[in-house]
Amino acid sequence: MNMQPNAKLEDYSGVWVVVERSESEIDPVVLELLGKAWDLAKKRNTSVTAVILGKHADQESKKLGIHGADNILGVHCPDVQDYEQEFYTRVLTELVHERKPEIILIGATPQGRDYAPRLSKRLNTGLTADCTGLDIEETTGNLLQECPTYGGNIMAIIQTVSSRPQMATVARGVFKPKIRTKASKVKVEKITYCFDATRERASTVDIIEQDGETRDVRDAEILVAGGRGMESSENFGLLEELAREIGGKVAGTRSACDLGWIEKNCQVGQTGHVVKPRLYIACGISGAIQHTIGMQDSEHIIAINKDPEARIFSIADTCIVADVLEFIPAFINAIKRFRNS
Ligand SMILES: Cc1cc2nc3c(=O)[nH]c(=O)nc-3n(C[C@H](O)[C@H](O)[C@H](O)COP(=O)(O)OP(=O)(O)OC[C@H]3O[C@@H](n4cnc5c(N)ncnc54)[C@H](O)[C@@H]3O)c2cc1C
Repeated sequence: MNMQPNAKLEDYSGVWVVVERSESEIDPVVLELLGKAWDLAKKRNTSVTAVILGKHADQESKKLGIHGADNILGVHCPDVQDYEQEFYTRVLTELVHERKPEIILIGATPQGRDYAPRLSKRLNTGLTADCTGLDIEETTGNLLQECPTYGGNIMAIIQTVSSRPQMATVARGVFKPKIRTKASKVKVEKITYCFDATRERASTVDIIEQDGETRDVRDAEILVAGGRGMESSENFGLLEELAREIGGKVAGTRSACDLGWIEKNCQVGQTGHVVKPRLYIACGISGAIQHTIGMQDSEHIIAINKDPEARIFSIADTCIVADVLEFIPAFINAIKRFRNS
């Protein structure tokens, strides 16, 4: 199914945020997206709808309303309890055809990254993944979707000019949640959808909880992050030791994760986690924009790199030009000596 043949761009209005729940709570990225949706809707003179697939529309209405939703659309399917890719894709496709939102925002979570591309394909519309900024162009009313591209050498502003809805995914931590100061009535609408999951080619067999690392990386107050400059998985042991000494957690760049030196769920950056710890120690990290987008708002950044021209130094508060493999052991020893003195 494509954008309906007779539909015009101006037939589409309203900003939708698709709600995701994790660990029985609304995922924080949803509240962040609602804040942004609220800004966008104001500029477009339209409303914000939070779409919940599941039976929690009433339960979550207050929280979603406080964070920016004007309407809540709950879609309940008695036969689907957990996330099902085909259920999300099919329901959202049908709802979009019927109700024609102009913008859909989705969290760049594993779940969002799973169904958003399928949805955009079925709607035959554009999707910008992992946006780092969203705004409305005054002259056209189009959604401006900011995203680093060409290896981070340029920040592209992408527009979906000839189809609707305009779709974007955004990682957790990119936007800040907002709170309405004036209470306003949230309209809740609930519909039931019949979906036979047993007839689908793909279905969820089991959900296996990740280990505790993900939450630790995202919520850590101190992060010791390593890049390709650490040279080996064994040398990441030095980062573990440093993190233990100062009460922090270890994270990594995508290169370090791809090399298997640290788990994928500890990746910081555009396609990893956006983190804002009190202290971020970047060890052997060049500072590619896809990485710095995920950590540049840390309160204090210490960068250790042997290249004095490394890009990471342009955003660091403390710059140390040194070989990490010499500096970190000396640093750990100094901390131990200080503690014992
Ligand atoms: C679409 C897309 C999404 C991406 N998403 C992410 C993301 O989410 N997160 C991410 O991190 N990257 C991401 N990347 C990859 C990103 O562009 C960079 O390639 C990556 O961040 C580089 O990792 P690095 O700094 O570990 O390695 P490098 O760029 O190779 O840098 C290694 C650094 O270590 C220094 N060094 C080497 N040896 C030593 C030593 N002994 N002592 C001190 N310093 C030393 C070098 O001078 C160099 O600066 C993405 C790329 C694309 C195209």
